[in-house]
Amino acid sequence: MTGADRLDRDLEPLLRRRREQGLYRRRRVVSGPQGPRLHVDGRDCLCFCSNDYLGLAGHPGPAAAMREAAGRYGAGSGAAHLIVGHTAEHQALEEELAAWTGRPRALLFSTGYMANMGVINALVGEGDRVLEDRLNHASLLDGGWLSRARMRRYPHADLAALERELAAPDDGRALIVSDAVFSMDGDLAPLGALADLTDRYGARLMIDDAHGLGVLGPEGAGTPAALGISWQRLPVYVGTLGKALGTFGAFVAGSETLIEALIQRARTYVFTTAPPAPVAAATRCALRLAREESWRRERLSELVNRFRREADPAGLPLAPSQAPIQPLLIGDPHETVRLSEALLAEGILVSAIRPPTVPPGTARLRITLSAAHRSEDVDRLVETLARHYRRSAA
Ligand SMILES: *Cc1c(COP(=O)(O)O)cnc(C)c1O
Repeated sequence: MTGADRLDRDLEPLLRRRREQGLYRRRRVVSGPQGPRLHVDGRDCLCFCSNDYLGLAGHPGPAAAMREAAGRYGAGSGAAHLIVGHTAEHQALEEELAAWTGRPRALLFSTGYMANMGVINALVGEGDRVLEDRLNHASLLDGGWLSRARMRRYPHADLAALERELAAPDDGRALIVSDAVFSMDGDLAPLGALADLTDRYGARLMIDDAHGLGVLGPEGAGTPAALGISWQRLPVYVGTLGKALGTFGAFVAGSETLIEALIQRARTYVFTTAPPAPVAAATRCALRLAREESWRRERLSELVNRFRREADPAGLPLAPSQAPIQPLLIGDPHETVRLSEALLAEGILVSAIRPPTVPPGTARLRITLSAAHRSEDVDRLVETLARHYRRSAA
């Protein structure tokens, strides 16, 4: 038996199990730009599963900015930010992100996953505690587990359970970590109450606004701005650039001291290549569009209302979400996949989200809307869903 055979023999049972449980994942091949109309696996589809909430991922503006910057900088960044990878484009983008989110400084990370791992690990360690909402994004949970701090997950948005954890006697620091808009459910975390508990128990608080930035608040400045909560009460703010901004990357915004400390000790910042300057240039253009073109947020909100107004009388299992994330709770993973396949057969792409991404028994269709959708697109989605959902319930 060769080394390759031994490895395959280790892995094959996992693949078999995944297939049997209806949890097997496979990729689709997309050609052409992102947008509601996507060319996928050789056919045209209407897409309701990207995080391109403002319709900027396929917008010609950021693409032109990227080409122009590639002419000046080339494609590669050469090294980490702390060596020679930090360009004038990165610097300007950090300043614009800080101004947008109303915080003293911002620090770019290559991805949101890395930002979350890096920040949690820089803020707590052995002898400390990390208190996380059970439905937090995988990158926040992984960050907590990797930190060597004691990791406690409280039931979703359960402030009483969180308070019990905070009240337990403990010598170390406690870091509360939460998504601001939950990525698979679309509901908002009780940020004001989290900030109150943080103060009452002398804890620390970090929020991940991957799905709020660009979508919520005046000029899309994010969930804290939408709720009118000061940056000092939500002092560690993570935003991502691959969702509403339509490009790639992430950042942390906060005090001068926080950012300087992350530059010194966030390992996923220090030990990785900086994203290429053209990506930063594209993001600067996307940020301008996201801030200035508020019609994109208005349009998005109209489409969310339209979807809910039509889906409710059609008997679809709506979740209490006002966000562009509109999950339909199906429960059984096989049934969820069957529905997603029935939609695909009619040229509509909606992802089936199954465990372990969501808790067992809560498989769902995760529908996401974009400012680039037309009203007729939403009508067609609901009409098609209603036909197949009824059929499956019968
Ligand atoms: C997508 C997402 C991330 C990860 O960001 P990437 O830049 O894609 O790595 C982190 N947190 C939340 C809540 C997300 O939805």
